[in-house]
Amino acid sequence: MKLEVHPEYNEITVACSCGATWKTGSTLGRDLHVEVCSSCHPFYTGKQKIVDTAGRVEKFNQKYGRRTPATNKAAAAA
Ligand SMILES: [Zn+2]
Repeated sequence: MKLEVHPEYNEITVACSCGATWKTGSTLGRDLHVEVCSSCHPFYTGKQKIVDTAGRVEKFNQKYGRRTPATNKAAAAA
């Protein structure tokens, strides 16, 4: 290995906004904070999670009839 061309590779702690933390190897040199990880991403959890900015989802559901908006709200809050 060539000397003095490689960045320092250390263990860092990654923290997710869902509360999960884990350690990983990185050359970043500081701890990392992420918004979504494999334990809270909808792809892995199977739950639907919509970022609804202007109540558009709500409006759509009212207009075109999802019959359980209460469960949708619960899923969004979780
Ligand atoms: Zn997460």
